[in-house]
Amino acid sequence: MFSQFALHERLLKAVAELNFTEPTPVQVAAIPPALEGRDLRVTAQTGSGKTAAFLLPLLNRLLGDANSKKRTDVRSLILLPTRELAQQTLKEVERFSQFTFIKAGLVTGGEDFKEQAALLRKQPDILIATPGRLLEHLNAGSLSLKEVEVLVLDEADRMLDMGFAEDIERITSECANRQQTLLFSATGGGKVLREMIAKVLREPTHLKLNSVDQLSETTVQQIITADDPVHKERLVQWLLSNETYRKAIVFCNTRTQVDRLYGHLVALDYKAFVLHSDKDQKDRKQAIDRFRQGGSKVLVATDVAARGLDIEDLDLVINFDMPRSGDEYVHRIGRTGRAGADGLAISLICHNDWNLMSSVERYLKQRFERRVIKELKGSYQGPKNVKASGKAAGVKKKKSDKKDGAKKSAAKPSAKRRPSAPKAPSALVSQDGMAPLKRKKPAAE
Ligand code: AMP
Repeated sequence: MFSQFALHERLLKAVAELNFTEPTPVQVAAIPPALEGRDLRVTAQTGSGKTAAFLLPLLNRLLGDANSKKRTDVRSLILLPTRELAQQTLKEVERFSQFTFIKAGLVTGGEDFKEQAALLRKQPDILIATPGRLLEHLNAGSLSLKEVEVLVLDEADRMLDMGFAEDIERITSECANRQQTLLFSATGGGKVLREMIAKVLREPTHLKLNSVDQLSETTVQQIITADDPVHKERLVQWLLSNETYRKAIVFCNTRTQVDRLYGHLVALDYKAFVLHSDKDQKDRKQAIDRFRQGGSKVLVATDVAARGLDIEDLDLVINFDMPRSGDEYVHRIGRTGRAGADGLAISLICHNDWNLMSSVERYLKQRFERRVIKELKGSYQGPKNVKASGKAAGVKKKKSDKKDGAKKSAAKPSAKRRPSAPKAPSALVSQDGMAPLKRKKPAAE
């Protein structure tokens, strides 16, 4: 019951209007300490109800003394990685604040700068922003953050992955008079996140709510081996025609592959939408809106573009390519099986996806179900021999390759480098007799 929280009656009314009956675990854990004014560091996935977990206490604070304080600037800032997430968050603010006079504004890239400056002159109570564009406004003198009382860093791990570390540092230092900072991340993050936490949070309470193991509770995870991208395209087509689902997302690692697959599906008379970062903002918004409304059951997307999307009835995720890290996999799959609904996640695995896939299995401490579609059985069925780690055996890496790999992966945390992945023992076992994966907890960061 939301009435267990000491929330303003106008907020409780909005919650009731939205038919939220029970708070989710992240809301139960985060709302009380946030209402007390504590700094929080929360590890929770998209889909867990984390937005309401920070918005309700934030709105409660603004309602508490909205009339008593004469203010001239933005009172709270929600910083997040992408436009799509920003738009969704604005919608949530509007839903929760429907019985109040609180106003929110959006400042993200890809939108008209002057219009945003005009919006900032009206001093919204809550500003929802992506770091790059917000900095441009700060540099142009369109706003001051000196009166920010609450700073929320949402999907902080993702912002760091996207290279926003310095921007975030500058922005947080501009919010010099803030009384509370709430930091949310989908993953435990790494060293850079820890350093940022040490800088921006004051004696934070750490709430960990996203055990990756939870993923398997509602989502069945399968792999299907494939010979090459053309074979994968036929598998996607088969799955979209034969699976039962309300909405499906097909994730590819590159924009080129997204376009290719989309072209293939359209040529076969499938109605699908496309989402990747080469599309302009208008097209992206239109694709998301129409997908949401059910204009098509299928969305083909890259990770970056689909980040933070919250789509109802999404029950099928197909990984055309294996995502490059365990975290990314969790983000993709976390979109299905929300709020206890069943979901199905299928990864298509060519020989060059295999080792990534086995790293992700180890990261999640799960073994994906192996599935074969009889009509489309290819010649590749996984490596002949696998190590106890699950990786392909007998493919020796050159020293120079290793170095290159290390450099490349430094830009983005990869499943391979996660501390959770136990070191591969050298013993070889056949694929059928694959050693059971150790159920070792990922090392606490
Ligand atoms: P989030 O993790 O914040 O992206 O939320 C995922 C979805 O769950 C959003 O559509 C929210 O509106 C919805 N939601 C959040 N909290 C609740 C709740 N307590 N009951 C029902 N739906 C909720």
